[in-house]
Amino acid sequence: MSDPRRAVVVGGGIAGTAAALGLRKAGCEVSVFEAYPDGAEDIGAFLTLASNGMRALAELGAGDAVTAVGFPLTSLRVLDARGAELAHAPLGEVTDPALRYRCLRRGELNAALRAEAVRRGIPLRHGARLVSLTDSPDGVTAGFADGTTATGGVLIGADGLNSTVRRLIAPGTRPGHAGQRVFYGYADSAPVTDGTGHITMVRGSEAAFGFAVSPAGETYWFARVAGGPLTARELARSEPDLWRDRLVSLLSKDCTPAAGIVAASTSVMVTNATETPLGTPWHTGRTLLIGDAAHAASPATGQGASMALEDAVILAKALRDSSGPRTAFALYDSCRRPRVEHNIIVSGGISRGTSIPGRPGAPVPSPRAEDDALHRQLAWDTDLAAAAGED
Ligand SMILES: Cc1cc2nc3c(=O)[nH]c(=O)nc-3n(C[C@H](O)[C@H](O)[C@H](O)COP(=O)(O)OP(=O)(O)OC[C@H]3O[C@@H](n4cnc5c(N)ncnc54)[C@H](O)[C@@H]3O)c2cc1C
Repeated sequence: MSDPRRAVVVGGGIAGTAAALGLRKAGCEVSVFEAYPDGAEDIGAFLTLASNGMRALAELGAGDAVTAVGFPLTSLRVLDARGAELAHAPLGEVTDPALRYRCLRRGELNAALRAEAVRRGIPLRHGARLVSLTDSPDGVTAGFADGTTATGGVLIGADGLNSTVRRLIAPGTRPGHAGQRVFYGYADSAPVTDGTGHITMVRGSEAAFGFAVSPAGETYWFARVAGGPLTARELARSEPDLWRDRLVSLLSKDCTPAAGIVAASTSVMVTNATETPLGTPWHTGRTLLIGDAAHAASPATGQGASMALEDAVILAKALRDSSGPRTAFALYDSCRRPRVEHNIIVSGGISRGTSIPGRPGAPVPSPRAEDDALHRQLAWDTDLAAAAGED
């Protein structure tokens, strides 16, 4: 029978690489298999890591690797459609430099995590695209497009929104459109003079817009605009000028910095806001889904990567603290599902502009109590089942 502490991780993105760091820390033998032949994919997009994501990284011992890239954000400004400031407040755990929000390119985050995995001696194979898996009581075998295979005691599907692992273990599950198109890009020299260190959210009449200025003066921005899903063909068409012009004309209806920032941008990218359905099955036998493969949310709350980092810690602790994959995956599911599905609901509600559905009669925990419960679960030295039982 295959050792459950031998893990095959499919997908070398944020969730997969972080999970490998956690599994190695928990004493597992782990290898990562990434479809892309090199590390240059998806260099364009940027994201913000929230304090909860930074806390998960710290528990993995990877905080320093990530604070070496990107830049910190310590406050949030909110503007209305006339450009008037509605609020300006500290953001997350500002007093601890290791836990501050961080703005960085997705490719930079991936590269930092992968370099840390390699530094710790974790094998990471590029050009390995999973196409099949055979899961039996004795072990699970991944089959790759190049004809090679890898067998382990557990297989972790961290292969993102369009997960092949999910298609194989939960063929009926289809991610759906969350009601918005998301534009993002960069303006080389900042057309705003706000300084660095804060993220500004603009409640525009036609779009939710956000921007942050890097210490080098580059403006990172995104815009979420209501609309149906763009087709794969529309998404694949590289037409930055067309998207920029359309967006500028929408944003110009307001008196905010948004239109000027977009007009000054050389690169403009677009994607659909997509989410996985609630109740998506996450595990079967020796195979488990994590990250976007399990619970992609619309980007409105900006929590997808942070949730993937939390997954990594909780998965490693679940396998460390359980007698086998079945109990570990059940424990993982019970710890993670309420939190990540709440994020899908909240984020989808923001994207659709609808109110957030509550469960009738459900107690509403205070934010502080929720934070304490999460911190107990993430703390490397606590027993996961005991920490979950206290909540
Ligand atoms: C526009 C936009 C803005 C966002 N902004 C934020 C933000 O500000 N903050 C935040 O926290 N999150 C944000 N997110 C979400 C965040 O990017 C994702 O939640 C996060 O990247 C999920 O990580 P992952 O590792 O699960 O998936 P991915 O990062 O997609 O990684 C999956 C990996 O699996 C590989 N792979 C795929 N198929 C196979 C296969 N068959 N075999 C082997 N490997 C495979 C892929 O090549 C990839 O490397 C945003 C998302 C979008 C779309």
